[in-house]
Amino acid sequence: VKYLVQADGSLPNLALMRLARYYRERGETVRYVRGEGQRQLWDPPGEVLGSSLFKSSARIRESIEREWGPVRWGGTGVDVASTLREIDPGVDWDAVAPDYSDHPAEDRSIGFTQRGCRLRCEFCVVPEKEGRARTVSSLADIWRGGSAPRKLLLLDNDFFGQPREAWRARLAEARAGGFRISLLQGINVRIIDEEAARELAMVEYRDKEFHERVVYTAWDDLRDEGRFRRGVETLAAGGVPPKHLRVYMLVGFQEGETWEAIMHRFRVITGLGCEAFPMPYGDRPDLRAFARWAIRGMWRNVPWDKYRDRRKRASRRGGEEMARCA
Ligand code: SF4
Repeated sequence: VKYLVQADGSLPNLALMRLARYYRERGETVRYVRGEGQRQLWDPPGEVLGSSLFKSSARIRESIEREWGPVRWGGTGVDVASTLREIDPGVDWDAVAPDYSDHPAEDRSIGFTQRGCRLRCEFCVVPEKEGRARTVSSLADIWRGGSAPRKLLLLDNDFFGQPREAWRARLAEARAGGFRISLLQGINVRIIDEEAARELAMVEYRDKEFHERVVYTAWDDLRDEGRFRRGVETLAAGGVPPKHLRVYMLVGFQEGETWEAIMHRFRVITGLGCEAFPMPYGDRPDLRAFARWAIRGMWRNVPWDKYRDRRKRASRRGGEEMARCA
């Protein structure tokens, strides 16, 4: 038996779905395991392969190892350089169709049209892990086919970083094939051009649940304000209004980052009519509270300092931590 263990991440794990296909096609019995506490007494022995996306999942990985014994780990949480080639270097893993059978509630098709990124943000593992931007799949390759909904969750880190003719072809494919796409990892608003904005506006882009019209993007470094503003303008001129932009904002990464600097970014993003989506780096309680305040829309009714003070009063210990961090 091959046990495929997903330690973290909210989406079905693409690498494990490819491994499931690979092993099942070779006649192996595969059992997918989600997180810790899943082992049954009657589970027969077998090889355990695990995937973990986040370094911060160390505790869960240890718990899984206590439960299952030695685990062959992959994923950026354990090794930025790990790839499925370690399992079989003779396989083109991007071309292995994921096996969705362990995820019966999942109706989206998940994949990458491209890998890599043109930029080099200091906190990010993508350039090191995936290298330069390049095309890997068409939308038709990613879609499961048959009666599956035409909902494609694209994990591309730099969709417009692939050659122009490639992204043009993908967006034309989306229009002609009636695909809705969610570019969950965000497009690079800092280097968007007019044609890309126009072409993007003509496809059915969605949030990851496929409920709303959302284009994900990011503004992580305060120094990029001018480029961010220009990118938002370019998208708006092309037909993607700011209200469709969900802007990830990394907080807590820059050493010495002040609350003034964080709030400035937040006000610019919301002032332009975009949605701010803070992503705390590390485990600071004040930044997690800020993310909740922003993402749940509380900012519309309660100013941040009032919200923060209320939390301080609610928990003396939490309040002390907050005062240290703020
Ligand atoms: S643009 Fe995104 S994917 Fe590219 S290096 Fe920066 S954070 Fe990473």
